[in-house]
Amino acid sequence: MSVKGAAYMRYRNSKYSTNRKGGFAPQKGRASTQRRQPIQNQNRQTIRSTNRPAVNQRQPFQGRSGYYGSPARKRGLGRAIFFLCAIFALGCVGFKFLFHHDGPTKADNPSIQAGAPVAQDGNTIIPDITIHQGDLVLVNREAPYQEDPNQNLVSLYDYKQDSYNVKDKNLTIEKRIVDPLNQMLQDFHRAKGPSDLLITSAYRDLIKQNQLYKDEIAALGSAGAMWVSRPGYSEHHTGLALDFTIFYVDTGLSDDYDGTGIYSWINQNCQKYGFVVRYPEDKANITNVNHEPWHFRYVGLPHAEIMVEKGYCFEEYIDSLRSFSPENPLVYSASDGKTYQVYFIKEDVAKNGIPIPNGKSYAVSGNNVDGYIVTITE
Ligand SMILES: [Zn+2]
Repeated sequence: MSVKGAAYMRYRNSKYSTNRKGGFAPQKGRASTQRRQPIQNQNRQTIRSTNRPAVNQRQPFQGRSGYYGSPARKRGLGRAIFFLCAIFALGCVGFKFLFHHDGPTKADNPSIQAGAPVAQDGNTIIPDITIHQGDLVLVNREAPYQEDPNQNLVSLYDYKQDSYNVKDKNLTIEKRIVDPLNQMLQDFHRAKGPSDLLITSAYRDLIKQNQLYKDEIAALGSAGAMWVSRPGYSEHHTGLALDFTIFYVDTGLSDDYDGTGIYSWINQNCQKYGFVVRYPEDKANITNVNHEPWHFRYVGLPHAEIMVEKGYCFEEYIDSLRSFSPENPLVYSASDGKTYQVYFIKEDVAKNGIPIPNGKSYAVSGNNVDGYIVTITE
């Protein structure tokens, strides 16, 4: 599959000069993904606390606080007092420098780059979600789904449009992907006319997944695990995945959705709406799931387009993002006309604050494995 339009990707060694706003992602109810304007000067202290070159200069002074306790050195007391006063004075200068300087910069001290990430001309935020929440949580047999207290499930039937059908009113889905889903299927309808598209599955709880798994294993033996994930290891727990089928209303018969014929439009254009075919045919050895042209996963923009352009399955994409940092972000111009910057922050580093460029809108998502993926938008 190739990206349509003027999408391109480039890598660069620079800081923040561009960004975006998020595609079709609804701004309200984004419970598990942060998306807002950064707060001015929030946690400015955090930047300093992770890069305090002056602190070490004060350590010798503190280390000599026990000097007077040694009788053998009383003769050197005068010299010691002088020495201590001098060091104390130097320490005061260092202290003043530490708390009144505008903050170290790369130009001041190149070694800062080796420490925790610093947002030049920016701020840091402490994530209010765990690494198990957000649009980019990877769920597979190595990364089980962790319950998201902010999950916001709605009955898709209440929001559906005439361009498709929904199995029943009990089918629920994460609310924030309803708009992009409706937009995609509305555009599909406009492009290809009426269809027999039916959404048969979206969110599944553990009980439902357990039943499906047992049924599949009973029918296929161990090979069933390549079709239905074990309970707790299914993307359907996220509410961000859905399955299509073909249902002929006239006859009451149904067919597998294979993404061919008029439906190839969906499989070829879904990334523009933030969706990907999660289990491509040539990636089964990585995903450990057979080709499922009917299973779509929402990851949002620009991630879906980057995955398609680079030919990555989700596992490969999440892995590739680990090489991008605030100082060296992945920069991508998506088909929505916006430019995005994407970078990764390890979970332990994020506890000290995630750097965000000033005045940019952003989204933060956990990857469900070891850190956060930050998406900056113009
Ligand atoms: Zn599925």
